[in-house]
Amino acid sequence: MSSEITEFQGGYRWLSNFWLCPVDVSGVRYPSAEHAYQAAKTLDAGARLAIAGLASPGQAKRAGQQLELRPGWEQARKRIMLGVVVIKFTQNPHLGCQLAETGDALLEEGNRWHDNYWGACGCPRHMGLGLNYLGRILMMVRDIVRED
Ligand SMILES: [Zn+2]
Repeated sequence: MSSEITEFQGGYRWLSNFWLCPVDVSGVRYPSAEHAYQAAKTLDAGARLAIAGLASPGQAKRAGQQLELRPGWEQARKRIMLGVVVIKFTQNPHLGCQLAETGDALLEEGNRWHDNYWGACGCPRHMGLGLNYLGRILMMVRDIVRED
């Protein structure tokens, strides 16, 4: 077992929020964690349903970027991401098992698109120095599912 997983690609693609698996939040079924997270940006039930109906996580992300953000979003978004990721890995127990099986490996959402909030960008300018909040959340959720 590698002690570092620094890209959510290939055999670790399922760690990405773009992985397709049902994520049910407040009675709405989303096709991925990304859909659920983007929908949480709005309190408008119709807009949430519209996002749930989009085919791909990329479409959901773009739709989320067009939304008028709910009040307090900036302060709430890490907590909401934690909730979505907990739901993803508890409602899909096989994924929860896979997450637990990563043991104590560092989980880092390495990327090349300059996201140093949720991940860590490895481009020459950023050199992998990111806050990696998604990776940290995944490690917190790993601790939770391990105890189940
Ligand atoms: Zn970069």
